Amino acid sequence: MGSELIQIMLANQPGPPAGARSFSGAAGEAASFASGGLLNERIMTNEAYGAQATPGLTRAHRPSLPVATAGALKTFYVETFGCQMNVHDSEKVQGLLLARGMTPVEDLTQADLVLYNTCSIREKAAQKVFSRLGAIRKTTTGTVKAIGVLGCVAQQEGERFFERAPQVSLVCGSASYSLLPQLLDQLEAGKPRVTGLALDTEECFETEMTRRDNPFRAYLTIIEGCDQRCSFCVVPMTRGPQRSRPSGNILAEARRVADQGYTEIQLLGQIVNAWHDPSPAGLSFAELLVRVAEVPGIRRVRFTTSHPRYFTSDIVQAIDANPNLCDQVHLPLQSGSTPVLARMLRGYTREEYLEKIHDLRKARRAISLSTDIIVGFCGETRKDFEQTLSLIEEVEYDQVFSFKYSPRPNTRAEGRGDDIEEEEKGRRLTELQEIQRQIQVRRNQALLGRSFEVLVEAYQARLGQAVGRSTTNRVINFPGGPQDVGRYLTVKVTSAGPNSLVAVRV
Ligand code: SAM
Repeated sequence: MGSELIQIMLANQPGPPAGARSFSGAAGEAASFASGGLLNERIMTNEAYGAQATPGLTRAHRPSLPVATAGALKTFYVETFGCQMNVHDSEKVQGLLLARGMTPVEDLTQADLVLYNTCSIREKAAQKVFSRLGAIRKTTTGTVKAIGVLGCVAQQEGERFFERAPQVSLVCGSASYSLLPQLLDQLEAGKPRVTGLALDTEECFETEMTRRDNPFRAYLTIIEGCDQRCSFCVVPMTRGPQRSRPSGNILAEARRVADQGYTEIQLLGQIVNAWHDPSPAGLSFAELLVRVAEVPGIRRVRFTTSHPRYFTSDIVQAIDANPNLCDQVHLPLQSGSTPVLARMLRGYTREEYLEKIHDLRKARRAISLSTDIIVGFCGETRKDFEQTLSLIEEVEYDQVFSFKYSPRPNTRAEGRGDDIEEEEKGRRLTELQEIQRQIQVRRNQALLGRSFEVLVEAYQARLGQAVGRSTTNRVINFPGGPQDVGRYLTVKVTSAGPNSLVAVRV
């Protein structure tokens, strides 16, 4: 399927930030610890829907866990499921724990506190945490003093979590993360169960310290929550109301990560381009993009996820005007059929979406486009689905993340029934993915002989291959060594598959 996790080996390389975790403090101080040898890590693509555990711990040696009673919580282990927003939330949560004097461990069995940061965007994603907790339930004695559940499933299930998984002692949604230090104090003081479940906040989650896991790309949240009411989507119920961070805070953080050696920033938000500046500076989203791209040391700026409704032409003009703004846009379509889009409450028609694409195609640099699509939404007819197929053939995206519709609790679509059979959803998904695969082969083949600047993100020792990423977000493999990791190099494409390119250095 379109969504793709690339499991790669990241080599240590001299100098921050590659091969080291960076701990950034508000004053700009940076400490780092080398992870020792190769760091086994997942590089997330636009949407990554797997789990990301503390590097070094693989599924194979993730043990069943015994749970003891709480006391002093000195060490922690965090496992993250879901999108980049979750990954970055976990980075900030870990910053809070570090600021509290706690120490990260790479072996779950050495952790006093285990936190699972969960995703509930689809039923399958939500189930993952329960299988992890099932493993813990199997044993009765041991070292782990407290288990906490964070994120969207925590918010969705609330106190019910304690009934479903009695070994859990902390349940906290993303809108309450700033309360985590207090909640942990309460656990240490002997309170058996604590929750942070309020959603009515107007504040963003600001941290003094962030523990960044990705050594190349610094995630930076600019807007939290979501006020859209897409009828299929659980996010507004799990992440609370939309709230934008002031531009001053965002730019100060951008300068801090640049000072630590990061050259690439990815701005994050559920609807990233709905950002508006709550401060008197009153920047527009496009102006913010330019200001971040102008931070000394920053060479690449990406942003995700954009909503077509807020995708205005000044964003394209900003990309045109500033080469540090990557020529890559992820613009979720969901469906190519206007009646389905109306039932999804997306706020645009097929024709309006195509107008945005037309605007993007007029940009001076060829902007690489990707999208999200849901197949088998309630009432989707074969004709509706064919509208989606015809749209993807017309647009020719470079990447499509496609999903079978999964009814979610408390969404407007939940009550409408889930009337497309699973087998039919599966058939539609396969058909769409095959068409998209052919488009990607065609588009990638057209790049043969072209040169790209890549930021080298990994070295695969077994294959003797370096793995780089272009500004258009294409993964390019080429012969290289561990010393290339973290460098910007120019490579020329020699062969192309649907999901990646092979190149030689020029
Ligand atoms: N906030 C973004 C937006 O609205 O464009 C998307 C965020 S969501 C984490 C990523 C993708 O998951 C969505 O674009 C959609 O394609 C998919 N998704 C969301 N809810 C879904 C559901 N109930 N069933 C299947 N896919 C879903």
